[in-house]
Amino acid sequence: VDRTPEAVVDEILAILEAAEHREYFGEPVSQLAHALQAAELARNAGSSNEVVIAALLHDLGHILDDPASVRDGVVGVINHDAIAGRYLREHGFSETVAALVEAHVDAKRYLTATNPAYLARLSPASTETLRLQGGPMDTEEARRFAEHSLFRERLQLRSWDEEAKYPERRSAPLSAYREMLIAHLSR
Ligand code: FE
Repeated sequence: VDRTPEAVVDEILAILEAAEHREYFGEPVSQLAHALQAAELARNAGSSNEVVIAALLHDLGHILDDPASVRDGVVGVINHDAIAGRYLREHGFSETVAALVEAHVDAKRYLTATNPAYLARLSPASTETLRLQGGPMDTEEARRFAEHSLFRERLQLRSWDEEAKYPERRSAPLSAYREMLIAHLSR
Protein backbone atom coordinates (compact mmCIF):
# COMPACT_ATOMS: atom_id res chain seq x y z
CA VAL A 1 0.00 0.00 0.00
CA ASP A 2 1.47 3.28 -1.17
CA ARG A 3 0.60 5.54 1.74
CA THR A 4 2.48 7.20 4.56
CA PRO A 5 2.68 5.46 7.95
CA GLU A 6 0.68 8.35 9.40
CA ALA A 7 -2.14 7.83 6.89
CA VAL A 8 -2.28 4.09 7.56
CA VAL A 9 -2.21 4.55 11.33
CA ASP A 10 -4.94 7.19 11.25
CA GLU A 11 -7.12 4.92 9.15
CA ILE A 12 -6.71 2.10 11.68
CA LEU A 13 -7.31 4.39 14.64
CA ALA A 14 -10.48 5.67 12.97
CA ILE A 15 -11.71 2.10 12.50
CA LEU A 16 -11.05 1.35 16.18
CA GLU A 17 -12.57 4.66 17.30
CA ALA A 18 -15.73 3.81 15.38
CA ALA A 19 -15.88 0.53 17.29
CA GLU A 20 -16.54 2.36 20.55
CA HIS A 21 -20.16 1.33 20.36
CA ARG A 22 -19.74 -2.03 18.72
CA GLU A 23 -20.23 -4.86 21.12
CA TYR A 24 -17.56 -7.44 21.70
CA PHE A 25 -19.62 -10.51 21.00
CA GLY A 26 -21.42 -11.74 24.05
CA GLU A 27 -19.07 -9.83 26.41
CA PRO A 28 -19.82 -6.68 28.43
CA VAL A 29 -17.25 -4.40 26.72
CA SER A 30 -17.12 -2.59 23.37
CA GLN A 31 -14.65 -3.61 20.67
CA LEU A 32 -12.67 -0.44 21.38
CA ALA A 33 -12.52 -0.99 25.15
CA HIS A 34 -11.47 -4.60 24.54
CA ALA A 35 -8.60 -3.53 22.26
CA LEU A 36 -7.40 -0.84 24.70
CA GLN A 37 -7.52 -3.17 27.69
CA ALA A 38 -5.62 -5.90 25.85
CA ALA A 39 -2.92 -3.43 24.74
CA GLU A 40 -2.57 -2.04 28.24
CA LEU A 41 -2.19 -5.51 29.73
CA ALA A 42 0.58 -6.17 27.19
CA ARG A 43 2.27 -2.87 28.05
CA ASN A 44 2.05 -3.51 31.77
CA ALA A 45 3.67 -6.90 31.26
CA GLY A 46 6.69 -5.12 29.78
CA SER A 47 6.14 -6.53 26.30
CA SER A 48 7.90 -5.36 23.16
CA ASN A 49 6.15 -2.79 21.00
CA GLU A 50 5.35 -5.48 18.44
CA VAL A 51 3.51 -7.50 21.07
CA VAL A 52 1.65 -4.44 22.36
CA ILE A 53 0.60 -3.58 18.80
CA ALA A 54 -0.56 -7.15 18.23
CA ALA A 55 -2.64 -6.95 21.41
CA LEU A 56 -4.19 -3.64 20.34
CA LEU A 57 -5.05 -4.92 16.87
CA HIS A 58 -5.76 -8.59 17.53
CA ASP A 59 -9.50 -8.29 16.81
CA LEU A 60 -9.27 -5.84 13.93
CA GLY A 61 -10.70 -8.57 11.71
CA HIS A 62 -14.04 -8.19 13.48
CA ILE A 63 -14.41 -4.54 12.54
CA LEU A 64 -12.78 -4.33 9.11
CA ASP A 65 -15.09 -4.08 6.17
CA ASP A 66 -13.56 -6.94 4.20
CA PRO A 67 -15.57 -8.84 1.56
CA ALA A 68 -13.72 -12.04 2.54
CA SER A 69 -15.20 -11.93 6.06
CA VAL A 70 -17.33 -14.90 7.03
CA ARG A 71 -19.92 -13.48 9.40
CA ASP A 72 -21.92 -15.18 12.10
CA GLY A 73 -24.78 -13.35 13.79
CA VAL A 74 -23.65 -14.41 17.24
CA VAL A 75 -19.87 -14.55 17.25
CA GLY A 76 -18.97 -12.01 14.56
CA VAL A 77 -16.40 -12.64 11.86
CA ILE A 78 -15.44 -16.28 12.15
CA ASN A 79 -12.21 -15.86 10.16
CA HIS A 80 -11.27 -12.56 11.86
CA ASP A 81 -7.78 -13.84 12.68
CA ALA A 82 -6.91 -14.48 9.02
CA ILE A 83 -8.63 -11.28 7.84
CA ALA A 84 -6.64 -9.15 10.29
CA GLY A 85 -3.35 -10.95 9.57
CA ARG A 86 -3.65 -10.28 5.88
CA TYR A 87 -4.67 -6.66 6.40
CA LEU A 88 -1.68 -6.04 8.67
CA ARG A 89 0.80 -7.57 6.22
CA GLU A 90 -0.67 -5.58 3.35
CA HIS A 91 -0.35 -2.39 5.38
CA GLY A 92 3.31 -2.83 6.30
CA PHE A 93 3.18 -4.38 9.77
CA SER A 94 5.93 -6.83 10.70
CA GLU A 95 5.62 -10.55 10.29
CA THR A 96 5.73 -10.90 14.08
CA VAL A 97 2.72 -8.62 14.55
CA ALA A 98 0.76 -10.28 11.76
CA ALA A 99 1.62 -13.80 12.90
CA LEU A 100 0.67 -13.07 16.50
CA VAL A 101 -2.68 -11.64 15.50
CA GLU A 102 -3.26 -14.53 13.17
CA ALA A 103 -2.58 -17.07 15.91
CA HIS A 104 -4.81 -15.74 18.65
CA VAL A 105 -7.60 -18.12 17.74
CA ASP A 106 -5.21 -21.05 17.40
CA ALA A 107 -3.89 -20.28 20.89
CA LYS A 108 -7.35 -20.96 22.23
CA ARG A 109 -7.56 -24.17 20.24
CA TYR A 110 -4.17 -25.14 21.73
CA LEU A 111 -5.08 -24.32 25.32
CA THR A 112 -8.39 -26.12 25.19
CA ALA A 113 -6.57 -29.21 23.89
CA THR A 114 -3.85 -29.20 26.53
CA ASN A 115 -5.52 -27.74 29.61
CA PRO A 116 -8.91 -29.09 30.76
CA ALA A 117 -9.19 -26.39 33.46
CA TYR A 118 -8.85 -23.75 30.76
CA LEU A 119 -11.57 -25.34 28.70
CA ALA A 120 -13.88 -25.35 31.71
CA ARG A 121 -13.22 -21.63 32.37
CA LEU A 122 -14.10 -20.34 28.89
CA SER A 123 -17.00 -17.91 28.77
CA PRO A 124 -20.18 -19.17 27.06
CA ALA A 125 -19.53 -16.90 24.05
CA SER A 126 -15.97 -18.14 23.77
CA THR A 127 -17.05 -21.77 23.99
CA GLU A 128 -19.47 -21.22 21.14
CA THR A 129 -16.78 -19.58 18.97
CA LEU A 130 -14.38 -22.42 19.73
CA ARG A 131 -16.80 -24.83 18.14
CA LEU A 132 -17.04 -22.67 15.01
CA GLN A 133 -13.25 -22.31 14.94
CA GLY A 134 -12.62 -26.03 14.69
CA GLY A 135 -12.61 -27.07 18.36
CA PRO A 136 -9.53 -28.09 20.38
CA MET A 137 -6.36 -29.01 18.42
CA ASP A 138 -5.39 -32.61 17.89
CA THR A 139 -2.09 -33.86 19.32
CA GLU A 140 -0.05 -33.18 16.19
CA GLU A 141 -1.39 -29.64 15.77
CA ALA A 142 -0.70 -28.92 19.43
CA ARG A 143 2.87 -30.21 19.14
CA ARG A 144 3.56 -27.95 16.16
CA PHE A 145 1.99 -24.96 17.89
CA ALA A 146 4.18 -25.48 20.97
CA GLU A 147 7.34 -25.51 18.84
CA HIS A 148 6.70 -22.12 17.25
CA SER A 149 9.20 -19.36 18.06
CA LEU A 150 6.35 -17.09 19.18
CA PHE A 151 4.75 -19.75 21.38
CA ARG A 152 5.11 -17.77 24.61
CA GLU A 153 3.86 -14.50 23.12
CA ARG A 154 0.93 -16.26 21.49
CA LEU A 155 -0.21 -17.64 24.83
CA GLN A 156 0.33 -14.28 26.54
CA LEU A 157 -1.80 -12.52 23.94
CA ARG A 158 -4.49 -15.10 24.49
CA SER A 159 -4.55 -14.51 28.22
CA TRP A 160 -4.75 -10.71 27.79
CA ASP A 161 -7.53 -11.21 25.26
CA GLU A 162 -9.48 -13.08 27.89
CA GLU A 163 -8.76 -10.57 30.63
CA ALA A 164 -9.71 -7.56 28.51
CA LYS A 165 -13.42 -7.80 29.19
CA TYR A 166 -14.02 -5.61 32.22
CA PRO A 167 -16.66 -2.91 31.68
CA GLU A 168 -15.35 -0.79 34.58
CA ARG A 169 -11.65 -0.82 33.76
CA ARG A 170 -10.19 2.48 32.61
CA SER A 171 -7.44 2.38 30.02
CA ALA A 172 -5.10 4.75 28.23
CA PRO A 173 -6.78 6.24 25.14
CA LEU A 174 -6.16 5.17 21.58
CA SER A 175 -3.99 8.24 20.99
CA ALA A 176 -1.42 6.76 23.42
CA TYR A 177 -0.52 4.22 20.73
CA ARG A 178 -0.32 6.51 17.69
CA GLU A 179 3.41 7.24 17.87
CA MET A 180 4.23 3.60 18.56
CA LEU A 181 2.25 2.49 15.52
CA ILE A 182 3.83 5.13 13.27
CA ALA A 183 7.31 4.19 14.46
CA HIS A 184 6.56 0.54 13.76
CA LEU A 185 5.40 1.26 10.20
CA SER A 186 8.40 3.55 9.65
CA ARG A 187 10.93 0.94 10.83
FE1 FE B 1 -10.32 -10.52 21.49
